[in-house]
Amino acid sequence: MPVYPDAAALAAAQDELRTLPPLVTSREILALRQQLADAQDGRRFVLQGGDCAESFADCNAGVITNRLKVLLQMSLVLVHGLKVPVVRVGRFAGQYAKPRSADTETRDGQTLPSYRGDMVNGPEFTAAARVPDPRRMIKAHARSAMTMNFVRSLIDGGFADLHHPEYWGLGWVEQSPHAAEYQKMVESIGDAVRFMETLAGRTMQSLNRVEFYTSHEALLLPYEEALTRQVPRADGWFNLSTHFPWIGMRTAALDGAHVEYFRGIRNPVAVKIGPSVTADQLLRLIDVLNPDDEPGRLTLIHRMGASQIAERLPPLLEAVRRAGRRVLWICDPMHGNTESTHNGYKTRRFENIRHEIEQAFDLHAAAGTRLGGVHLELTGENVTECLGGARELTEIDLQRAYRTTVDPRLNYEQALEIAMLIVRKRGA
Ligand code: PEP
Ligand code: MN
Repeated sequence: MPVYPDAAALAAAQDELRTLPPLVTSREILALRQQLADAQDGRRFVLQGGDCAESFADCNAGVITNRLKVLLQMSLVLVHGLKVPVVRVGRFAGQYAKPRSADTETRDGQTLPSYRGDMVNGPEFTAAARVPDPRRMIKAHARSAMTMNFVRSLIDGGFADLHHPEYWGLGWVEQSPHAAEYQKMVESIGDAVRFMETLAGRTMQSLNRVEFYTSHEALLLPYEEALTRQVPRADGWFNLSTHFPWIGMRTAALDGAHVEYFRGIRNPVAVKIGPSVTADQLLRLIDVLNPDDEPGRLTLIHRMGASQIAERLPPLLEAVRRAGRRVLWICDPMHGNTESTHNGYKTRRFENIRHEIEQAFDLHAAAGTRLGGVHLELTGENVTECLGGARELTEIDLQRAYRTTVDPRLNYEQALEIAMLIVRKRGA
């Protein structure tokens, strides 16, 4: 957590946030919770994805539209291949605060405080930019509202209309090795839509729009708390800055402030589970966050790494199953597979990401549990941040378009490829 140099300024920013309108409603939150309950029972699959860290500079029409397009295309692949509805959850409209492994960063002999996300300080490597500024929370709220507003307008305006999936095309991938496979699928969906509408004798309005939900890591408690409101009609407290907050691996301590905060809100919540978590700790966490086993309330996002998942995950699955606890399991194949290249880039290998997802499906099947979704870091931009994939990006390619401020993201093609391999794996 950042230490703000000016406590009065922090209090003033929180006071202002408390007067501002929320970004989502309790009704939407409860609807998502029901969908997550369905995913827990195998009737839906969850696709959660977006930037590692959103940035204020990227709050623009192009970036938001492209990210929405990728997620829509991926969900189309998943719906078509898995034959279940997909719960679409963006990592956006609030993903502005980052946990860091180190408090400081050293470049060319100079040491400064780490960048902690645009909601806290600036990414520029200057002493001034790195001072935590509480006014950034106000700006983050505004950017999140703009993002939500634009996403809602696009969807309400028919952007996600299944009658026109060609609108979601991203020009630069026409040359993609996967373009033909994707195109074929879009055509077969088009045929199915026309067939059903011919049978029904009318246009099916339900195909005109989709539901889209938001999520972010609830790290910066001064922000989260100021947007937590009591909703009399729904009988309880809700974090109304997002539908689906999660706690990161570094702040998931049982006796920590973040778990205590989550205990008191009625949103569906998720917790990242890393390789050091024991079965005992996990069961106690479940007791605290979901004492009554409410369906859809608690999601566990495991992020073990391709080399550790086979050893670390099964004992946890087994313990939770044996205790009769009901949770939704999701795999984050990104955060256990981060490495640095010789030329100093933080990256991830597509092969490791793929390997972790494939193992996750198998390990759940062997344990008698169910993998109900995936959590990915991705973007709709043509970046080169992760190695490999169909175009076999190399360390040299990373120099071309490496733009993330924190973790490396799958680009559009790599993301679509992941959706296709999930279908192949689950279909198998
Ligand atoms: C993240 O999701 O960007 C993140 C930091 O994940 P984790 O807490 O799993 O390391
Ligand atoms: Mn990340």
